[in-house]
Amino acid sequence: MDAGHIVSPNIETDCDAVLYSACDVLDMRGLRKLRKQTDKPIIVGGAFAYNYWSAILYSDIVWIGEIFNFAKLNNLADIANSECAFTGTRKQLIADQYIDWCKIPITQISKYKAYYWAGVGCKNHCHFCYTSWTHSKQENSPQAISRAVSECSSRRIHLMLTANFYENDPINDPKTTTRDFLLQDYLLRPVAAQLIRCGIEFAREDTRKLLGKEISKNDIFAAIQKMDRDNTALRLFHITGYEPLSDWEFYIDDLAKMLSHCLNRRYPNRRLLHLMFNNLQYQNYTPLYSERRKIDPEKYADFHLTKIWYDKLRQYSTHILVGAPSPFRHVACRMGLELSRNREQAEYWLRAFGRKAFTTQEAYTALFTTGIMDTPRVVLKTGGVIAEIL
Ligand code: SF4
Repeated sequence: MDAGHIVSPNIETDCDAVLYSACDVLDMRGLRKLRKQTDKPIIVGGAFAYNYWSAILYSDIVWIGEIFNFAKLNNLADIANSECAFTGTRKQLIADQYIDWCKIPITQISKYKAYYWAGVGCKNHCHFCYTSWTHSKQENSPQAISRAVSECSSRRIHLMLTANFYENDPINDPKTTTRDFLLQDYLLRPVAAQLIRCGIEFAREDTRKLLGKEISKNDIFAAIQKMDRDNTALRLFHITGYEPLSDWEFYIDDLAKMLSHCLNRRYPNRRLLHLMFNNLQYQNYTPLYSERRKIDPEKYADFHLTKIWYDKLRQYSTHILVGAPSPFRHVACRMGLELSRNREQAEYWLRAFGRKAFTTQEAYTALFTTGIMDTPRVVLKTGGVIAEIL
């Protein structure tokens, strides 16, 4: 590290502090286990650390934001005193947004797969999108991205570029096999890639306009027709849990009509159309969090429903896949743990994750009785300053 620290795998004999990277709320299980294993100071970082009120319950210091400045600090006192570090006492916090792009490595995650940061944040600021509200929009340089693409290509490694390329396509290299687009931008030009990923998010045009992106039915139809022209597969992301399920029935009916049209016309659907469904989790930092108390299990799709949708769409195309979302219970547990502000709440939701007989009704009731819905909304202001709205 920049300040000359050495990373050691031997916790009990060599370390002054134990660093724990938490990317997702499920990493809280590992953090709790680590807390039981050691009395050494635990410092939590990673994407989940923005939920510092929860992460501190099983650690000593939570480092909020990017890690490049952290690596320059000399000792534990300097870290704890930083405005980016939460130690359990209230103070004005700043989420560190500094990224030293020259130091971003190509991260190999398996023999033939690697990922590389091409950008973070997104200027679109959809109401539900945690990342766009916690990270300022920054991009790696096109030259560095090209170098990473060439290197992985020569090593025959599949490279995933992690970024939200929704405005244009700065990569412009067919060797990157997966590309993310805003749907309307995808429609503007031919694209050479194996898989295009676009977020549709909501069932109705007016909800999409209000909370995310202004995508019309015609745009979706045009994208499905364009798949064949570009010879690409298309993955569309959706979020159930906000609109009534009847709105989704209409959405699926519309897709069926689009696919049936493709059966006979100039652009048949011969490449895979993959529909992914996620269930809405009301997350702190996003404007949608203020509607959390309206959460309604009746609006949440499950495996049985997406199977019915799949069976319907299969009548019009054999090139269709429909992914099922996590059940409402799982969403509730995620929310419960993420919003916990004391050990009692966190222990309840950690146990709930493992309870097979935890019903939808129990999960819904517990969201309110455990008090986690009272966790105040937190906002990140320009410059990364954190403010709680009580
Ligand atoms: S376009 Fe995608 S990444 Fe950008 S704010 Fe919306 S959901 Fe988030």
